[in-house]
Amino acid sequence: MNYIFPKLKVASENDEITSSKIIQLIDKLTEEINLEKDEFLYILNNITEKEITYLNKKAYDVKYKHYQNRVYLRGLIEISNHCKMGCKYCGINYKVKTIKRYRLTVDEILECCKSGYLLGYRTFVIQSGEDSYYTDELLVDMLKRIKEEMPDVRVTLSLGERSKESYQKLYDAGTDRYLLRHETASRRLYEYLHADFMSFDNRRECLSNLKEIGYQVGAGFMVGSPTQTNEDLVEDLVYLKELGPHMVGIGPYLCHEDTELKGNDSGTLSESLAMVALVRLILPKVLLPATTALGSLHTIGREKALKTGANIMMPNISPTENRALYEIYQNKICTTDTSNQCRNCIEGRIVGVGHVIDLGVGDHIDIERVTDNDR
Ligand code: SAM
Repeated sequence: MNYIFPKLKVASENDEITSSKIIQLIDKLTEEINLEKDEFLYILNNITEKEITYLNKKAYDVKYKHYQNRVYLRGLIEISNHCKMGCKYCGINYKVKTIKRYRLTVDEILECCKSGYLLGYRTFVIQSGEDSYYTDELLVDMLKRIKEEMPDVRVTLSLGERSKESYQKLYDAGTDRYLLRHETASRRLYEYLHADFMSFDNRRECLSNLKEIGYQVGAGFMVGSPTQTNEDLVEDLVYLKELGPHMVGIGPYLCHEDTELKGNDSGTLSESLAMVALVRLILPKVLLPATTALGSLHTIGREKALKTGANIMMPNISPTENRALYEIYQNKICTTDTSNQCRNCIEGRIVGVGHVIDLGVGDHIDIERVTDNDR
């Protein structure tokens, strides 16, 4: 396990002064919804399991205040594992030769949406490697068909970096939300984790463009990626506060042995959960998924995330035969289940930790919905 918080690594307990300073900082953060950089850093450098328990409880209370114990469900469709990008941590990046590549047609995507609709889902998250097959024209056609057949749903796209014009066309065609994790707000770490032809500035520009166009925007980052430091994680908090996204996806880095980063340790559950909690405290109304990566790292990783700041789950509705091929990291959960099985499993997990499923569209609570007619 790649521990970044030094005191967790040695499983030590703080002396009373350090512990009470961390608790005071967590209280200050809850009240003022922000801290100075050095205060965030103090927390990360000194926190132990005892204060993490306190932090998680504070985040749970803030989530409860805004969303109670409701968990929004999003039907996730992984439409293609073709990717032209070079994210060195990702098992579907263009250099990986060991996987069989697949992509879904618009008809197949529509079928997934319809089956998800019957299971009650009213948001579809359509995610993919960066695959040039999905031109604007093809996606516009797909979006129109989804919205015509199921006018009461929200569509989230997560297709990576595209031009502002392309984002605009997809928005005009009915896309409601866009997920594009910033991956890390540290330029050094971004450049270490990505191929030379990828650009830290462009990723950020994409996020600003998406916001400017009017999307509900999701950013996010991995915890425990190779060479990541607490300073890097503080940059993530500062950047997210500045960007003010509607959603933030946070998960542990999970090592994939067929990538350039093979042999590295994966991120840890405690640290990932602590980051989920901190993000809930800096962005109290944000939508925060209990990510599949958390569930893949630990059997009840997602349930633990619900017990802190998370309020979204994303059951998979991709065709079962393709799921194992969308192997961004190894030992990914839900790769052999049918969509029905995922639905039942997720509901059981949610109810098991005292939450309830909410089958509404699940917009961010500050969103006044721009209807498709207003576009
Ligand atoms: N291509 C789109 C993009 O870049 O935004 C969406 C698909 S991409 C595979 C979705 C997310 O998977 C990335 O943003 C990244 O954070 C996460 N991911 C990829 N490889 C991972 C790994 N080894 N461990 C944890 N998360 C990973």
